[in-house]
Amino acid sequence: VTTHDLYLLHLGRLGERNAETGEARFSQVPGYLIRTAAGRTVLVDTGNPAPLIGAETARPWAALLTETRPEDDVLARLADLGIGPGDVDLLISTHFDFDHCGRHDAFGALGTESLVQRRHLEAARADPRRYDPALWEVAGIRYTPIDGDHEIEPGFRILETSGHAIGHQSVYVETGDGPVILAVDAISAAEMVETRQVPWWYSDREEAVRSIDRLVSLAEESGALLVFGHEASQWDGLPKSPRPYRRS
Ligand SMILES: [Zn+2]
Repeated sequence: VTTHDLYLLHLGRLGERNAETGEARFSQVPGYLIRTAAGRTVLVDTGNPAPLIGAETARPWAALLTETRPEDDVLARLADLGIGPGDVDLLISTHFDFDHCGRHDAFGALGTESLVQRRHLEAARADPRRYDPALWEVAGIRYTPIDGDHEIEPGFRILETSGHAIGHQSVYVETGDGPVILAVDAISAAEMVETRQVPWWYSDREEAVRSIDRLVSLAEESGALLVFGHEASQWDGLPKSPRPYRRS
């Protein structure tokens, strides 16, 4: 069996303050790095924008609290693995919310190729209020639009999972310690597996639920660990870079 090395990158945290108790609840901003069996270095998402380092709110992008330290910058996380931005052969853009494409600017000058769903590119261009073009319409990045699922290498593929965003992408990757599904925001919180509750702003509820169903079924069939996009209770228990992913 061909397997790939996976690293979970902690790229800061976003949070909300409970209006009644004043208590802040944070969850991670994730990124992922895969060193493939064929020797390629593939980055999934780039995390929070650089201006959030040291800031207390995620404005102007969101009315959320943020906790983003210098070491949470994707370039610092990659450097920890001995990887410079120029070593990244391929960038997978799951979607263009600010906390997933915040450091795409670091790859513009390098002409990095990025895979994105064609539907998402179109949706993002039509909605600059949600998808700030200053973050992702970066001169130099070569977007390759794809339609639906896409195999990168045997045991490593992109899954089209619209729901949180039109043309959202998740990732399936077989590691030396079993398969992993990076659900990203198709299932951002663990409770969505039970509730099938999808974001209120997404108009096609059936499509969003179908994406959840699909990821849950695939995890059951393959025995994959389903990694949620923003679930601190899970993330805190997983090994983060520079340690490679291990199931236990
Ligand atoms: Zn997200």
